[in-house]
Amino acid sequence: MAQRNTWQRERVREALADARGFVSAQTLHATLREAQTGIGLATVYRALASLATAGDADTLQSPEGEALYRACTTQGHHHHLICRNCGLTVEIEASEVEQWARRTAGLHGFQDAQHVVDIFGLCTPCANERDRAASDAARNGAGE
Ligand SMILES: [Zn+2]
Ligand SMILES: [Zn+2]
Ligand SMILES: [Zn+2]
Repeated sequence: MAQRNTWQRERVREALADARGFVSAQTLHATLREAQTGIGLATVYRALASLATAGDADTLQSPEGEALYRACTTQGHHHHLICRNCGLTVEIEASEVEQWARRTAGLHGFQDAQHVVDIFGLCTPCANERDRAASDAARNGAGE
């Protein structure tokens, strides 16, 4: 039983490593189903939670409040820039944020302060795509 769980966890870890940027448990489950692994959604949730606890995966909340996961390539504390359209993720350092967080916590007498700062936006190709779609719509609208 324990052995089977380990196998499933490894399979989830591999699928996460293959994914581009942050993905939800549902997205990962769909990928694993296509690969005919027979791994259930509940198992995917459990495996992702345990990978995140072990520090093998990054986790964050999307603007919609959904939990997203990613196999992280950077060790230690860092931040993310995430395209909300295609999921492209850039790992970033934010020394200003580190200083601000420490200073602000200190001003309020807080110690061992932690923070989560991730930036969601549109990457250049996705922004260009959106602008093209918008100008197409404007042209079509003017023709009517
Ligand atoms: Zn990361
Ligand atoms: Zn994008
Ligand atoms: Zn930070």
